[in-house]
This record gives sequence, structure tokens and C-alpha cells, in this order.
Amino acid sequence: MNEVYDIINVMDNTDLKISIGHLYPKQLNLYGDMGNIITLKKRCEWRGIGVNYVEIDLGDKIPECDLYFIGGGQDKEQIDVSKAMYLQKDFLQEQRDKNAVFLGICGGYQLLGHYYQPFDGEKLSGVGLLDAYTVAGKKRFIGNVTAHTDFLTPDTLVGFENHSGLTYLQNDTKPLAVVSTGNGNNGKDNTEGARYKNVFGTYLHGSLLPKNPHLADYLISLALEKRFGEKFKLEKLNDAIEYSAHNSVINKAY
Ligand code: GLN
Repeated sequence: MNEVYDIINVMDNTDLKISIGHLYPKQLNLYGDMGNIITLKKRCEWRGIGVNYVEIDLGDKIPECDLYFIGGGQDKEQIDVSKAMYLQKDFLQEQRDKNAVFLGICGGYQLLGHYYQPFDGEKLSGVGLLDAYTVAGKKRFIGNVTAHTDFLTPDTLVGFENHSGLTYLQNDTKPLAVVSTGNGNNGKDNTEGARYKNVFGTYLHGSLLPKNPHLADYLISLALEKRFGEKFKLEKLNDAIEYSAHNSVINKAY
């Protein structure tokens, strides 16, 4: 029997649920980023935690959610998303300040900052949830990444990067992790991803969460805390397969 923590003692599991808003999956869903949504849903379902999932399309009014996800995409898909999301920038910043959880992957991550300047074409406005900006470089970063966090156990995050954007963090926006294999944000300062409040950005495709269950559970816990106003320790799951996949990538460049 898995050791069960407060979550069972505090309230009947059937009362627990989170809402997940998937931002622009028709435009931003590169390299299997949908796998992140599947992982969040399954890891809640396996614990009896309900999930209200909603896809948000171009032109939709973004609803209030406990957790938002935005995937990666090519420059051309980012143009339409940038325009649509920027119109709701104030609302999204309000959600951030209410401790909603955001996870942005690559192109989605770039649009959570102030702007993304593609190599060719106009600057794309971001929604400023992260104090960061991105400028496309001439070189494309492609390969596996291993990076180390200061808030997860195990401390490693693994994934696959494929981007030309170089992201630079400012002020209170801190790196998600420090790179030991691969390039990360810009291939220069050894940082990977970003975090401010409960907003998380990363270049790690793969998709990210199936091979990093500890991060998935961390995000679910934050979303529960945002909704119910108290901290939860989740029931442990048997993650032998997940960590076998995780460990198979560690420190491998390709
Ligand atoms: N178009 C962006 C870049 O090349 C993001 C790519 C992606 O989402 N993988 O940096």
C-alpha cells in the first residue's frame, strides 16, 4: 500500500479537483506537448482528484483556471497566439497574482515573457507573466537537456530542446534549473527555464511531464493549494517506469 499523506485525512478525495485551461492547443502543440496535459490528468485521476479541462481557442475569453498550460510552436503559429493572448494580458496577470499555476513550453514559454523577436519578422508581444525576453539567434539548439532544480527531489529535470530563441531573465524571475547537459535558455548563462510566483517556463519538450513526474506532482499540489487555500502532500504513486525513462536521458546529449 502506498504511504498516504494528509490528502486523505484532510478531506474526502472526491471533493478534490482542479481546473486546467489549455491555451491554444490548435496552434501550440509541438513535439507531443499534449503529453503534459495527459500526465496531469492521469496523475490526478489515479488519486481520485477531479479535473475540469477546457481548451481555449483563438478568440475565446480565457476562463479563470487553477492551472494553465501552453505548448510550443513554430514562429508562424506564435504570431496568432501572441495577438490573441496579448488582448487578455491584464486578466492573465491577475490570475498569476492569484497564484494560478502556469506551465509554458518553448514557444508558449517565450510568450509568457515580455516579447519574442523572431529572426525574421515583427516582434511578438508576450503577456509579461515572467520578467524575461527572447531574441532568436542564428543557431538552432537541438538535443537532450539535463538540468538541476533547487526545489525538486530528485533535483533533475530532463527533456528535449529545439529552439532558436535565446531567453534572458530579469529581476525577480529566476531560472527553473541550471543546465548540466544541453543549452537551456540561451546556451551562455547555464540557465534553463524560468519561474516567478507559480509561473513556470521551460524549453523542455519530450513531452516534459511524463519523464518528470515529480514536477507534475509539484504543479498539481500548487494548483490544489491555489484552489483550496491549503498545502497538500499527494499520495505517492508507483513511478518506476517514469523514472526509468527519466534516468535513461540524464546526461545524454543525443
Ligand atoms: N519558434 C520558437 C523558436 O524557434 C519556439 C520553438 C518551439 O516551440 N520548439 O525558438
